[in-house]
Order: sequence, then C-alpha cells, then structure tokens
Amino acid sequence: MNILLIGVQGSGKGTQAKLLSKKLNLPHISSGELFRAHIDNKTELGIIADSFINRGHLVADEYVYDMVEAELKKYPNGFILDGFPRTVPQEKFLMEHYKIDYVFWLELDDDESFRRISSRFHCSKCDSDYNLLYKKPVKAGICDSCGGKLIQRRDDTPEYILKRLEKFHQKTRNVFMKSDGSYLLKEIDASRSIEEIHQQIINCIKDN
Ligand code: AMP
Repeated sequence: MNILLIGVQGSGKGTQAKLLSKKLNLPHISSGELFRAHIDNKTELGIIADSFINRGHLVADEYVYDMVEAELKKYPNGFILDGFPRTVPQEKFLMEHYKIDYVFWLELDDDESFRRISSRFHCSKCDSDYNLLYKKPVKAGICDSCGGKLIQRRDDTPEYILKRLEKFHQKTRNVFMKSDGSYLLKEIDASRSIEEIHQQIINCIKDN
C-alpha cells in the first residue's frame, strides 16, 4: 500500500505519517528528513539542499528525484510518503513511476500553520518532538525523555515560515487538485485533533 500525505507546514503530515507507520507497519519516508540527514552528513547533495532550505525555498526538483527514488526503491511492499511531491512536476514523476493508493490532503489555514510551526521544538539529543501549544515539556527547554536541550529547526523561525508558506501557495497548492481515478484523494480538516485525524484516515483506508 502506497500512501501520500500532503499539506501545508504544520498540518501534521509528519505526526500522522508516524502514527500510520506504526499502525500499518509501513516505513515513513519524509523528503525533509532525508535532506536534513544529507545536510548533517555534509554530503554534496546536503550542501546544495542547504542553500535552498536555509533561504526558505523548495529544493529544485532536479535534486529531489534521485534522493526520493533511491529511498522508495528500498520498500517495494509499500510506504507512507510525507513531503513529496511538492510541485506539479514532482507529482508527474511520482505517478509515472509508482502506483499510489491513497492521497490524504491535510487542509489548514495559514494563521494556524504559522502558530503551530512557530511553537515547534525538538530535542537536540534524541530528536523527540514538542509543541508549546499541545505537547509542552515538563521543564521549559528540556527534553522529558533524555534531558537534552530543546531547539527549533532553523527554518521554523517567523521569517522562514512566511517564506515557506508563500512557496507552498506558489508550488504545492496545485498538486493533486483532482484524482485521475487511479487513487483515492481525501481532504482532511487538519484543525481537528491528532487522534480524530488518525481515526479518519484509518476509517477511510478500511472502507476503501
Ligand atoms: P519539511 O521537513 O517537509 O518541512 O521539509 C523541509 C525543507 O526541505 C522544505 O522547506 C524544503 O526546502 C525541502 N524539501 C523537502 N521536501 C521537498 C520536496 N519534495 N521538494 C523540494 N524541497 C523539499
């Protein structure tokens, strides 16, 4: 089963992908995470990707395909893909090479997206996720699990969030506007609770 999660920053793609990955026992592939791993490892691609990401831009399509394809190839029995495709050419590329079963479009307005992302932190040691709106650490700035320092993603600062929202509307809004019938396209109200959304996705998969 191949599942895609699409939506604006902060709509909960990553959170839902992780829950689905556990529930359905499928790997969660995030193009953003793949890029961050390349940046951390200072690979050639990482250096190029960083020059886009640190300006709040999307990485140019030509640098995305090989990385995503190399990862998807590892999982012929299915995957949950989060963060790809983000442009119409990426959508074309994916649909030409893979059979997609479900596309879940997580719909959220920009104000709420901004509010959620600017409250997002993660642990610098164990990478656990926190959000000051709904998953606060017990001790401010410190990870509950390992005591590590909580930090913000570099591109989660107000200036970059606004830039990323602009790019979302320019490039990603037009992706999967209409299903061609070969997959189920479902719009989800991403302002609802994490558990409600998870249940809605599971029910949709069960019923189809
Ligand atoms: P994310 O973790 O999904 O928010 O991704 C972080 C950043 O990585 C994005 O703001 C983009 O700059 C870049 N990125 C991730 N996925 C893609 C993609 N499919 N196409 C282009 N850039 C991407």
